[in-house]
Amino acid sequence: MTARLRIDRTRCAGHGICVLFAGRTIDLDAWGFPEVLEETIEPHALPAVRRAITSCPRQALSLEEPPSPAGRRGTP
Ligand code: SF4
Repeated sequence: MTARLRIDRTRCAGHGICVLFAGRTIDLDAWGFPEVLEETIEPHALPAVRRAITSCPRQALSLEEPPSPAGRRGTP
């Protein structure tokens, strides 16, 4: 199961703080705004991505995670 990192560009102000925490997942473009290098986040990269999300002063980053198997309806 993998998650996806999203940037809300209407919120992002180009502080670049997220890049300090996100490892290889985010880099800055030529204008200093973040771009997601690895949109699909593997489990080992999740802690760094979560730190990047919480570090953003504009709440511009979010993670789309698949539902956990325990949370699915219809399972006995
Ligand atoms: S920390 Fe937030 S506002 Fe700053 S560049 Fe990253 S996503 Fe944009």
